[in-house]
Amino acid sequence: MTLYRAAAIFNKYKTPFYYYDLNLLQQTIDEIKKYSTQYNYTVHYALKANANNKILSIIKNAGLGADCVSGNEVKKAVEMGFASDHIVFAGVGKSDDEINYALDNDISCFNCESIQEMEVINQLAVNKNKMATIALRINPNVNANTHKYITTGLEENKFGINTWQLDELLENYKGFKNLKIIGLHFHIGSQITDLSSFKSLCMKVNELQQYFIKNKISLPTINVGGGLGVDYHHPDTNSIANFKDYFDLFHQFLELQPNQQVHFELGRAIVAQCGNLISRVLYIKNGINTNFAILDAGMTELIRPALYQSYHKIENISKARDLTMKYDVVGPICESSDCFGKAVDMPLTERGDLIALRTTGAYGEVMASGYNLRDRVVAYYSDELFKN
Ligand SMILES: *Cc1c(COP(=O)(O)O)cnc(C)c1O
Repeated sequence: MTLYRAAAIFNKYKTPFYYYDLNLLQQTIDEIKKYSTQYNYTVHYALKANANNKILSIIKNAGLGADCVSGNEVKKAVEMGFASDHIVFAGVGKSDDEINYALDNDISCFNCESIQEMEVINQLAVNKNKMATIALRINPNVNANTHKYITTGLEENKFGINTWQLDELLENYKGFKNLKIIGLHFHIGSQITDLSSFKSLCMKVNELQQYFIKNKISLPTINVGGGLGVDYHHPDTNSIANFKDYFDLFHQFLELQPNQQVHFELGRAIVAQCGNLISRVLYIKNGINTNFAILDAGMTELIRPALYQSYHKIENISKARDLTMKYDVVGPICESSDCFGKAVDMPLTERGDLIALRTTGAYGEVMASGYNLRDRVVAYYSDELFKN
């Protein structure tokens, strides 16, 4: 069902709300499984993109694992029924409580980001008389060619262990009796659409593998992270990312050792396109050289444009699709950055029209805040709104 046709149903609900198309989510997961299983690749879903119960249960039921970046995400994954041997825990700043919780739940892997973190996890594991399995998150110094705020794999970023620290790390590792290194982990950034960045990552991984072979450390898993981008400009004609090319590329360029498993941690590419933020025009206001369409949704419901200058397609789904007017589409929050788009082409737009902000399933609802004491945004799902 297109959003234009759904508008009649949406009209019965109080706005703003997130609307999730669960059929599209399932189709997306099916594509991922189709192309990842042919190489025996394992995919973990990055919960931070969207941690909605309903979405998580669909992803879990499809057999994907969970990639967590906080103790509460680990807890959520456990509560949603993800198997502990399919839960990994990454993040530059894991607290002692978070580490203890993860140890108690026997998660499969801590992705460690510093020598000091290894020392702390080792000590906490000693206290519990447990072995902690870890992967080293290495900063590969590969440019993801994406927005600087979502670039994570350059030496100037806070993430990962820089390669020049590896000798010192392995020296220390000898003393960490309750840690076992089981793999390497990388994550170079998000919304990556230029696949050559992933090719550069593969080359870096191949080179690093030689270092570990030389040091006689076997690495059963190579975790290449997530970051595959989606098409924010064409959510209808390009609603599912090209998972075939993505997995094929790793198959082509990664040089694996015998029995090595490859893990992926996709977030955005799984959930972005299935979500839309639906809001209503409160006011039309004439500014200097522009008209403002003031919505009842703002940066409190969708912060990406304010935070990363990100683009979301904006559509007036109450009117026929003729694009004769231009509007600056803004929210109600008392910040000038609370703007979803400037000079957006729309039909003649009036108070009460429904506006869809497209491709908001990832890093949308999950980043909602209560700034200005706003109500918590609600979510509706296609299987509830359209029972047929
Ligand atoms: C955010 C994150 C991901 C997921 O990134 P996407 O761009 O949403 O695919 C994967 N791994 C780690 C460690 C992350 O921090």
